[in-house]
Amino acid sequence: SHGIEHHKYDVVVIGAGGAGLRAAIAAHDAGARTAVVCKSLLGKAHTVMAEGGIAAAMGNLWPDDNWEVHFRDTMRGGKMLNNWRMAQLHAQEAPERVLELEDWGALFDRTQDGLISQRDFGGHRYARLAHVGDRTGLEMIRTLQQRTVQLGIDVFMECTVTDLLKDGDKISGAFGYWRETGRFITFEAPSVILATGGIGKSFKVTSNSWEYTGDGHAMALRAGAKLINMEFVQFHPTGMVWPPSVKGLLVTESVRGDGGILKNSEGKRFMFDYIPEFFKAETADTEEEADRWYEDKKNNRRPPELLPRDEVARAINSEIKAGRGSEHGGIYLDIASRRTPEFIRKRLPSMYHQFKELADVDITAEPMEIGPTCHYVMGGVEVDADTELSAVPGLYAVGECSGGMHGSNRLGGNSLSDLLVFGRRAGESAAAYTSGLGDDRPAISDDDVRAAEKHALAPFESTGGENPYSIQQDLQQKMNDLVGIIRTAEELTQSLKEIETLKERARNLVVEGHRQYNPGWHLAIDLRNMLLVSESIAKAALERQESRGGHTRDDFPGPNPEWGAKNLVVSISEDGESVMLNPQPLPPMPDDLKKFFD
Ligand code: FAD
Repeated sequence: SHGIEHHKYDVVVIGAGGAGLRAAIAAHDAGARTAVVCKSLLGKAHTVMAEGGIAAAMGNLWPDDNWEVHFRDTMRGGKMLNNWRMAQLHAQEAPERVLELEDWGALFDRTQDGLISQRDFGGHRYARLAHVGDRTGLEMIRTLQQRTVQLGIDVFMECTVTDLLKDGDKISGAFGYWRETGRFITFEAPSVILATGGIGKSFKVTSNSWEYTGDGHAMALRAGAKLINMEFVQFHPTGMVWPPSVKGLLVTESVRGDGGILKNSEGKRFMFDYIPEFFKAETADTEEEADRWYEDKKNNRRPPELLPRDEVARAINSEIKAGRGSEHGGIYLDIASRRTPEFIRKRLPSMYHQFKELADVDITAEPMEIGPTCHYVMGGVEVDADTELSAVPGLYAVGECSGGMHGSNRLGGNSLSDLLVFGRRAGESAAAYTSGLGDDRPAISDDDVRAAEKHALAPFESTGGENPYSIQQDLQQKMNDLVGIIRTAEELTQSLKEIETLKERARNLVVEGHRQYNPGWHLAIDLRNMLLVSESIAKAALERQESRGGHTRDDFPGPNPEWGAKNLVVSISEDGESVMLNPQPLPPMPDDLKKFFD
């Protein structure tokens, strides 16, 4: 329509991380003409940063491991709020997906017997993470990307999607712009798979990169889909705290999985003081037992440093608050006194270089300083467990931008496996849906394209407002201060007022210059998504009057069984400007799965 670049596909995947690429491969293999669109360069998606590994109960090191144990660990890690069916499919299918990745050329670290090696991570009963040193994400992306290109799947790089298009209640395509030229582009497709990743850039201190502005979350909302679990944001316990330029950058959990321990300024290994009732039976209560566990998992319980992330992050937060923090306001993570320099450099090469180059710290000789950092959003688009279909016909969501799988807290390693398991499922379902339509395909209307164009150009229209950067900075600071790791009704109420003010400011913001490569304009568009997502998080956090997983309320310190039986579902308001919440009971777990929790 009117001179805009136009493409037709059976399936369009938005996002080229692990989830998007795996979905595209599956859609292509099912016979669909498939395209992948991503706002950065291919290979630059978040997935490439993943360090620790892919969780899959392969049983290579511990034959007692199987999908049932993995399922149980995942549900308990998520404090039973996970969609049980997703957790089941994930645990059952992850091993096949890892082996398939190996078939496609991924080179994993090996056991002495030549099997794929598996490493320990928090919340996992057995060593379960298939890995490549501490660069697993790089190997995963390399493998999936190579296959995508080999299969001849079309890739649109540095192309940002801003709106989904519909025909009646069905998806008909997507609208976006080329980052370099600012020119618009439309994709006509009956199936669109959202695989846009996370939302971390709404917070000041985060391990996430510039891309994670919750675009998929917000576009899904605006298209009429729903989000769940949005109050659950994972603050990873170990981000760098010094120097300021790298604050928030991730320090992989593998450091603890490989023997690292946490100490306060008094030199005390404090995690033994923070073992919650829920995990007492499976956590070591002496240093001796904790240390024996690395060699003998049968007869010892796991160290408290490897409790689920929410527990460790809260403990660190409490130690810092109590005045026992490190020089730069963190806590000490020490592997130097526990393992040989050779071991550390072999197992954690990226961490070794990261600290050497960025902080001038030699982690084989001295402890690291670390503190919590916003890392992952459990919340996302509500989907059907088997097909990843949202409430909108033709709209699928997968990976970090989908919700349900991880409940209130994700275990480390369970994201990479999630991408593979549900990426494949989404690709297959989307292809089947499109082919089932035959010639009766939804169409793109000129009016909708014009509306999307207007929406995208709106930031150029106003005068006299402020630039988007100052609004983004204020949002990040407010989210950090008021919707962070420990929450109260008072602060959350305040955050919602602040978000309203920021929305008002965003409506009047001013963008300088032209449409050719204009980061200010791009941010102005992203900001609307960030604000909608931030509001979803803050509203749900205020509503949920309990503490569970990634959501900690100072004014409601414990879990409440009533809240443990329901989800908060987020949908868009009538005028499209704000969000609404509805409680919804959890789907009941069948008895043959319930028995694992007696
Ligand atoms: P991403 O990999 O985040 O990709 C999103 C894609 O969407 C990108 O291609 C982006 O360009 C595109 N996109 C976004 N918005 C738009 C738009 N509007 N238009 C077009 N394209 C768009 N998990 C584990 O399981 N194990 C680990 O060891 C691990 N380590 C981690 C280490 C770090 C430092 C971080 C930050 C995370 C880690 N995680 C780990 C989490 C895991 O990496 C992520 O959750 C996962 O990679 C997300 O994958 P994804 O495919 O959903 O999205």
